[in-house]
Amino acid sequence: MNVDELLKRGLAQEFLSAEEGVFLFENAPTAKLMFVANELRKIQKHNSKKVTWIIDRNLNTTNVCIANCKFCNFFRIPGHPESYITDLATYKKKIEETIKYGGEQLLLQGGHHPDLGLSYYVNLFRDLKKYVPTNKITCTWAT
Ligand code: SF4
Repeated sequence: MNVDELLKRGLAQEFLSAEEGVFLFENAPTAKLMFVANELRKIQKHNSKKVTWIIDRNLNTTNVCIANCKFCNFFRIPGHPESYITDLATYKKKIEETIKYGGEQLLLQGGHHPDLGLSYYVNLFRDLKKYVPTNKITCTWAT
C-alpha cells in the first residue's frame, strides 16, 4: 500500500477498506490528512469558505462503573473511596462556566452506576434544564 495513492483515492471519494484506513492511520503524515480532509470538506460544502464549530463541555455524571473495561482508568467500583456522583451544585457551576465562554452543548458522560436507573437520569435532565436559559444546550448521555 502507498499513502499518496490511498489519499488520491480518498480525494476521488472512493471507499477505502478497513485495512487501507488502518494503513493511513499508521503511516500518513497529519498534514497530508488535513489537506485531504479540507479538500473533501470543500466538496461537501460546495466550496464554502465557512468552517463552523460549537463549544461544548463534557460533564461526568459519576465515575462509578461496573462495566470494567480493560482500558479504562476513569472508573471506580461501587463503594470506592474516590467514587462520586456529581451533585446539582457542581452541574450548575459548570453549566454557568460553559455558557459564560459561549458553550452551546453539554455532553453528560459517566459510568454504569448500578444504583442509578432511568428515573435518576430523567430527574437529572429535568433539573439541569432549569439551569439552561436557552434551548441551545443539549444533554446527551454516553459512556
Ligand atoms: S463503561 Fe465507560 S466508565 Fe465504565 S469502565 Fe468502560 S469506559 Fe470506563
